[in-house]
Amino acid sequence: MRKVAIYGKGGIGKSTTTQNTVAGLVELGKKVMVVGCDPKADSTRLLLGGLAQKSVLDTMREEGEDVELEDVMKTGFGGALCVESGGPEPGVGCAGRGIITSINLLESLGAYEDRQEVDYAFYDVLGDVVCGGFAMPIREGKAQEIYIVVSGEMMAMYAANNICKGIKKFAEQGGVRLGGLICNSRKVDREEELIENFAKRLGTQMIYFVPRDNIVQKAEINKKTVIDYAPDAEQAQHYRNLAKAIDENDMFVIPDPLEIDELESILMEYGLFD
Ligand code: ADP
Ligand code: MG
Repeated sequence: MRKVAIYGKGGIGKSTTTQNTVAGLVELGKKVMVVGCDPKADSTRLLLGGLAQKSVLDTMREEGEDVELEDVMKTGFGGALCVESGGPEPGVGCAGRGIITSINLLESLGAYEDRQEVDYAFYDVLGDVVCGGFAMPIREGKAQEIYIVVSGEMMAMYAANNICKGIKKFAEQGGVRLGGLICNSRKVDREEELIENFAKRLGTQMIYFVPRDNIVQKAEINKKTVIDYAPDAEQAQHYRNLAKAIDENDMFVIPDPLEIDELESILMEYGLFD
């Protein structure tokens, strides 16, 4: 089983990209599990058609350790297994710790072997604060393979660079590797070239360039992935291509994060500070 975590700045498109990629993978015949690691618990909505499901942490709070797999794992598009870790009670508890608690519970309930062998587990992880609890899936060896969703916007690139610092820190001991950057376009000038260059400087690759397209919002309002909502749309094909690129990826590296002035000089080169 490949254990994949998706990181990136808040709002960059992690949950959307993850679910569409998963839809692409199930079309390829893969058995995939998605574990949402964001207290917002919106990581599986497009695969489940909006079906509300109880988060692992909420269920544990109510039922103690006596949780059944069926209570927290629902089957969505193409047989994708969907779990929402949920969050700690606001203001108390570490969100990262909560994620580990729920992954441990899933493991002990046999979620990864049950029914059918699982080919992929995807962790959709909140935010860019890798120094805090959200580095947990990396630190605890729950994820082996990381993809960072980024765009040509400066703050998204700063966040990606910080995430690389986190990966580097845990890579030697834990074996976690960076599989690449997924550029989720914000229609910045020369964005594809910029992110390709940024990826190269980090010692990784831009694994795919996902265009910005309003069909993503249309599908979202209909509580579906683009692949489900508009299978013939160009955007659906882009997500299939991304799924295939991840499935065939063989470039896994320990990233070499940039110094701030180095990052800024790349942005200058591409005229973002004009
Ligand atoms: P995150 O999980 O990183 O916080 P989301 O996946 O929730 O971000 O995406 C934020 C918003 O951006 C959503 O409303 C989503 O529909 C939109 N979005 C994401 N990717 C695209 C895209 N390629 N084209 C258009 N809209 C997108
Ligand atoms: Mg999200």
